Amino acid sequence: MEKSIFSKIVDGEINSYKVLENEYCLAFLDIFPLQKGHTLVIPKTQCDNLFELEDSIYLELMRFTKKVALGLSKFSANTHKRIGQAVVGLEVPHAHIHLIPINNVQDINFSEKKLQFSEDEMKEIAAEINRQII
Ligand code: AMP
Repeated sequence: MEKSIFSKIVDGEINSYKVLENEYCLAFLDIFPLQKGHTLVIPKTQCDNLFELEDSIYLELMRFTKKVALGLSKFSANTHKRIGQAVVGLEVPHAHIHLIPINNVQDINFSEKKLQFSEDEMKEIAAEINRQII
């Protein structure tokens, strides 16, 4: 199996804006965010399809995702109503959950133009979400 871009992030071969990490899971900012704070949550083990994950990893991913989503919800409390969740997987063959602050369904439309933030802004966004989790 070819190593996915997300496995390269897990192994530190590619940089990412990390939000939270534990032994099994990693959360980092999507580099082409639909909304400020758009976060991806992945299992460290490479597996294309979310529903083909081993049960224990799947459950750990859900537990971890909940923790990240609650922090993200605090991060975006003044700007967005909810945290939308999406599983798409058409681009990267490594199971991942999108967590996206939203006010309406258009905010989670993957056909919309992506936002751009500077490197410093991305670092600050990731750090601030992390602070809201812990
Ligand atoms: P999909 O597989 O369709 O769910 O889309 C993959 C998502 O991963 C897209 O939203 C991309 O912007 C995002 N993405 C791709 N490469 C990276 C990367 N190196 N770091 C962070 N996000 C990425």
